[in-house]
Amino acid sequence: MTISQDLFERALASIPGGVNSPVRAFNGVGGTPLFITKAQGAYTFDADGNKYIDYVGSWGPMIMGHNHPAIKNAVLAAVENGLSYGAPTETEILMAEKVKALVPSIEKVRMVSSGTEATMSAIRLARGFTGRDKILKFEGCYHGHADSLLVKAGSGALTMGVPNSPGIPADFAKHTLTVSFNNLDEVKAIFEKYADEIACIIVEPVAGNMNCIPPVAGFLEGLRAVCDQYKSVLIFDEVMTGFRVALGGAQQYYNIVPDLTCLGKVIGGGMPVGAFGGKKEIMDFIAPVGPVYQAGTLSGNPIAMAAGLAALELISAPGLHADLEAKSKRLCEGFEQAAAEAGIALTTNYAGGMYGFFFTDAAKVTSYQQATQCDVERFKRFFHLMLEEGVYLAPSAFEAGFICSEHGDAEIEQTIAAAKRAFAKL
Ligand code: PMP
Repeated sequence: MTISQDLFERALASIPGGVNSPVRAFNGVGGTPLFITKAQGAYTFDADGNKYIDYVGSWGPMIMGHNHPAIKNAVLAAVENGLSYGAPTETEILMAEKVKALVPSIEKVRMVSSGTEATMSAIRLARGFTGRDKILKFEGCYHGHADSLLVKAGSGALTMGVPNSPGIPADFAKHTLTVSFNNLDEVKAIFEKYADEIACIIVEPVAGNMNCIPPVAGFLEGLRAVCDQYKSVLIFDEVMTGFRVALGGAQQYYNIVPDLTCLGKVIGGGMPVGAFGGKKEIMDFIAPVGPVYQAGTLSGNPIAMAAGLAALELISAPGLHADLEAKSKRLCEGFEQAAAEAGIALTTNYAGGMYGFFFTDAAKVTSYQQATQCDVERFKRFFHLMLEEGVYLAPSAFEAGFICSEHGDAEIEQTIAAAKRAFAKL
């Protein structure tokens, strides 16, 4: 029995499923999850002393690699002054100013403690601002686990095969309309039907919770036009894509201006941070200036702000995102070539520092339907073969992979060589 197996047995006795977030349990791939003891740069280390090239990166935040000295030192310095005050600090202003500078569509921003809080609050704000109840989301997009948004959701909900969850009253869920990602005709049709009842569209501008699916040409532009036409709020959920696909997020990469943006992951540098922001007139609709209530005991926490600010300073280095994308491209091309040599049908997608690969005959995957029709059993075997090779991929066929600045040419080439051996065994 390995130490991880032993720890998992113990965890199962006192934590539901042995984990504090479902996908960590390896339900999507089978087997026992690895218990991590430390992480540094591009690598994580498990309780049995194994070392892995890590493409999970804490599910996105670790864009500068694990335990970056500048972020660690910012946290240590902040800790000297106390852990939390529940009162305003100058660091919060610096953070807000930095976010506005990097994401120009954001004129005002409010900090929260998770991506779920960011999307939940943005939805409430959009409903309050428009005075409408219905919202529109896309099948396979995940926006955290708030009731309104856990309808036909991706990520763990999709991995576990429960895209809807018990515990959400049908009376709540009925206000959430869902259509197909990358299908503008369905969006237009549903707006024709509900016209002035839809408060907002919320979308992952690059879907990263049903593997990795970039928007097809014209899709995001079309959402912008529909929202303009029906006076609906366009919300980009950039919890995953923010500061990752490009310095200014997917909205910069695809040149679309949303009304509200949700942020998370990278913005906290590994601490629990989320944010939502956007147009002044919408943001000023929240308390204490406006009537829509939203609050948080630990929102804008000084340690979290120090970590996040340090992370945002680091990712502002010129050329960082071009470098991340070049590595995503190299990894995807390497996987495709290695798979082709082994006679395995595989296609890939990437945008900036996120990527995905699909075991399928399709030339390109652009829809939820295609993503869910891929060979999940083959993915599971590949995942475990890669783990044996010392490569830690996301433990689900429905999650994007993440590149960090510390993945050097050596790590990328090692990963492709490992994939080559794994494909040969499939
Ligand atoms: N939105 C998106 C696009 C996400 O990927 C996630 C988390 N993976 C969330 C929201 C929820 O964020 P959190 O897990 O921090 O609540």
